Amino acid sequence: MTIIGVLALQGDFIEHESMLRRLGMATRQVRSAVDLRGLDGLIIPGGESTTFCRLMEDFNLYEPVGAFARSGTPVWGTCAGMIVLARNASDLDFPTLEALDIEVLRNAYGRQVDSFESDLGIPALGEEPFHAVFIRAPVVASVGPGVEVMATARSERAAPEEPVAVRQGNVIATSFHPELTDDARFHSYFVDLVRSSGRSAGSK
Ligand code: GLN
Repeated sequence: MTIIGVLALQGDFIEHESMLRRLGMATRQVRSAVDLRGLDGLIIPGGESTTFCRLMEDFNLYEPVGAFARSGTPVWGTCAGMIVLARNASDLDFPTLEALDIEVLRNAYGRQVDSFESDLGIPALGEEPFHAVFIRAPVVASVGPGVEVMATARSERAAPEEPVAVRQGNVIATSFHPELTDDARFHSYFVDLVRSSGRSAGSK
């Protein structure tokens, strides 16, 4: 059986689980290293990255979640999850997992526009625009050479469009929250990645 874990220390893990269940997937809430065993994929949800990091430290999850993310097993971080996966994050008093070669600026969309919605073109999900919800989202300031930009958006902050969905191998991150909409296409994309990669962290 294919099982996708959702890091359940804080944030909107319930919404991710409901979306995955809607797609017929088995899910597991992850709060300890043991919970990672045998998982075929992992979602790090949105929430507050400082709190996430503090709890990962308290629950001794830094090393196991980092190793999981770097093992090639699919991992997807949304918003705070993107921050946690990044190589570097501004304004964060904790280390990141450095599983994705991007630099992010926390809360950089500015106060008056810190939450906004936008219809994005995401070729990997098909023709129809994806309605994206941004909540105090990080800005992706730079991406490394191995990182594919899956979608961009224009913010008030800068004239050029900035990456809002990125992928490096089996690690994906979005600065918006597909779990807060009705559109299951992004979750479906992740489920397909999990199924096609067919790896399990605990199977070796
Ligand atoms: N602003 C939050 C942070 O820096 C992220 C917000 C979110 O996940 N919606 O961690």
